[in-house]
Amino acid sequence: MNTQADFHTGADAALIEDLVMGNHILFNEKIVDAFGHLSVRHPNNPNHYLMSRHLAPGLVTAADVLTFDLDSNPVHDMGVRYYSERFIHGEIYKARPDVMAVVHCHASALIPFGSTRTGLRPIYHMSGFLGCGCAQFNIADTAGKTDMLIRDPSRAKSLAAALGDKSIVLMRGHGATVIGNAIRQVVYRSVYATMNAQLQLEAIRLGEPMYLDEEEAELAAQSNDKSLDRAWNLWKREAQS
Ligand SMILES: [Zn+2]
Repeated sequence: MNTQADFHTGADAALIEDLVMGNHILFNEKIVDAFGHLSVRHPNNPNHYLMSRHLAPGLVTAADVLTFDLDSNPVHDMGVRYYSERFIHGEIYKARPDVMAVVHCHASALIPFGSTRTGLRPIYHMSGFLGCGCAQFNIADTAGKTDMLIRDPSRAKSLAAALGDKSIVLMRGHGATVIGNAIRQVVYRSVYATMNAQLQLEAIRLGEPMYLDEEEAELAAQSNDKSLDRAWNLWKREAQS
């Protein structure tokens, strides 16, 4: 029988605590519901990542966090069910060495932008991380007729290729995947990508939006990255109440 420490293969308790809290925040902020997941690259081994077993994000505890390799196999097979779309995480960590945390969600506000190829652009400073836009992925282009889910490494490789150097990829008829350099950044980006979608839709109804240009977006993103803890600490308290 493996011990609790084996599950996490040496990751420290504070990181596990942030991963659990990130799951709860994403649920509380309505970015995920029963579905969706958050992972973090292992701090001591870049070829591993940490993520919950197959559970609704709002129910995740430290005891549910497991270590996976980048082929998305559990390092210690606990004989439990794992997320069917876990390959998203492993293939993005392979393709993007700079990525330290990944969120996959089905946030409803993002769906129209992925399904119309309108895409997201930064409508205000809080979503400067969108830069000059987002990536788009249509599973039918590479996998033909499917149930739309990223159920195997091949589909996940195509998704990671579509993400390219962007911070978010919208997935037609499905959802979105967001990347960041830490749990707090990827949670922030997931919340504000969703907020941006709501505001962008409002702006399109009024007229032609004047988006932030690339330089403005970059300056805003740098500024916001200095205040991630301010948002995190509020969302944490709300998720605990
Ligand atoms: Zn999904």
